[in-house]
Amino acid sequence: MQGMMMHIPLRIIEILRYAAEAHPGAGIVSVRTEGDIHRETYAEAYQRAAQLAHGLAGIGIAPGDRVATLAWNGYRHFELYYAVSGMGAVCHTINPRLSAEQMLYIIQHAGDRALCVDLTFVPLIEALAEHLPDGLRLILMTDRAHMPESKVDFLCYEELLDGQSTDYDWPVMDENDAAALCYTSGTTGNPKGALYSHRSTVLHAMQLALTIPRSLHEGARILPVVPMFHVNSWGLPYAAPIVGASLVMPGGKLDGASLWDLMEAEQVTASWGVPTVWLGLRAEIGTRGQAPAALDQVVIGGSAAPRSMIEGFEKLGIDVCHAWGMTEMSPVGTHGQLSASMDGLDLKEKIDRKCKQGRRIFGVDLKIVDEHGARLPHDGKAVGELYVRGNAIISGYFNNPEASEAAMDAEGWFGTGDVASIDPHGFLYIQDRAKDLIKSGGEWISSIDLENIAMAHPKVANCAVIALPHPKWDERPLLVVVPKEDKPTLGEIHDMMLEHFAKWQLPDDMVFVDELPLTATGKVSKLTLRERFADHVLPDAG
Ligand code: AMP
Repeated sequence: MQGMMMHIPLRIIEILRYAAEAHPGAGIVSVRTEGDIHRETYAEAYQRAAQLAHGLAGIGIAPGDRVATLAWNGYRHFELYYAVSGMGAVCHTINPRLSAEQMLYIIQHAGDRALCVDLTFVPLIEALAEHLPDGLRLILMTDRAHMPESKVDFLCYEELLDGQSTDYDWPVMDENDAAALCYTSGTTGNPKGALYSHRSTVLHAMQLALTIPRSLHEGARILPVVPMFHVNSWGLPYAAPIVGASLVMPGGKLDGASLWDLMEAEQVTASWGVPTVWLGLRAEIGTRGQAPAALDQVVIGGSAAPRSMIEGFEKLGIDVCHAWGMTEMSPVGTHGQLSASMDGLDLKEKIDRKCKQGRRIFGVDLKIVDEHGARLPHDGKAVGELYVRGNAIISGYFNNPEASEAAMDAEGWFGTGDVASIDPHGFLYIQDRAKDLIKSGGEWISSIDLENIAMAHPKVANCAVIALPHPKWDERPLLVVVPKEDKPTLGEIHDMMLEHFAKWQLPDDMVFVDELPLTATGKVSKLTLRERFADHVLPDAG
């Protein structure tokens, strides 16, 4: 027997229509590439999204077309998210930190019809111009007064909107229609596209809005450091308008001092980003002797949050929510908000919990399996490859049958490539990327665990552990350290590690670097480190 309820397709534009009505005072504050601060309410954004949709339709954009963006976090990027999907087209965010070759590959692969770019990226587009596909319309996200002299024929974003109606007859499409596209850069092979639907995006936004209320609530002011050009800024541009939280968009200035100033000036209550960003903010808090006054929560994800970082924020009274997810998961999969039953834990126990990646959000299922695909218990001890399932998780990659087949198991779960345990409270603990685990004499060593301890050493500013080949043990760990003023000795680091590790697990050697290489998504590039230190000979490996 069927239920007797209406079926109204889930549509992304409904989020903004709702916010415009229900939260008229909330909206978006943006540090503009033009240099000033811009403010608009969700009601204004909704009207401008309508104008933009008319403008895009006017240059021939039709339902199903891919409209790409190459832009920082800002109100025009936000308007594109809604206008493009609202008119039935697909908003394809491009990561400007990709190599030119990868960027050209994904523009081709996605079949983009238009590309909207921030002023910052004019030189990049000029350099790529002759390789861009014929017929790709280029739109510069600025007003007439700021249009630069350029050999490239840019349309002006604000001119597309000028004089257009602030009403748009948003089409009612199938909720499973594609709405947004984001490529994930694997360390091997070409980038692969996660193609989100209206349904998956709206469900993910609602799941997120339910999950992290300390960040996401009416009147909150959230600064997404996590970029709109990758993984949809962790879903914040969709979840914040639902609950009536405002977004404070930092543009391209993501250093500690700029973030501190913006957080203070805009009374930011929560901020989401990757650990590298928080290293900068924490150093700035140290210099100024205080945290931005209203900052109440940071959400850390994208890479493991080191214990020292979590402790540092918590000691300042700033709650840390450690989250885990992937581009392929829209992206949030787990969150580290402690449940009320954990109120009685002391600070150390709370931090122990927060060092893990937290519990699954509603709508995401987790399983860990052994090398034969057999399920492992959630006992906090068994370690296996992590698979996920849910309504906001990809069922395959866009136009890539080979990668799609490799990613899914026989039961239809998606293989994350992460190796993890899950404890009886449901807390996920990511040990490593499968390819970054160190295999020594048939036993595994987690690089993340070693890094976590080394990071707590007062002479270590940042670090990474990689595997180097070893004639006897197959692989052994090498510790790569960015030192503070004084350099630590390997013995000092070993002393700290011995409290937590067996002797055979400790790094065989340590090297110093000025900074760690990062991937386009802000993670430490272990591939680059492995290449750089490929000829390094470990002490007893000669
Ligand atoms: P991306 O698709 O760029 O978001 O990268 C997803 C990958 O980042 C995951 O598969 C993990 O390997 C890693 N990752 C994300 N969040 C965390 C976290 N909190 N701790 C450890 N690794 C993480």
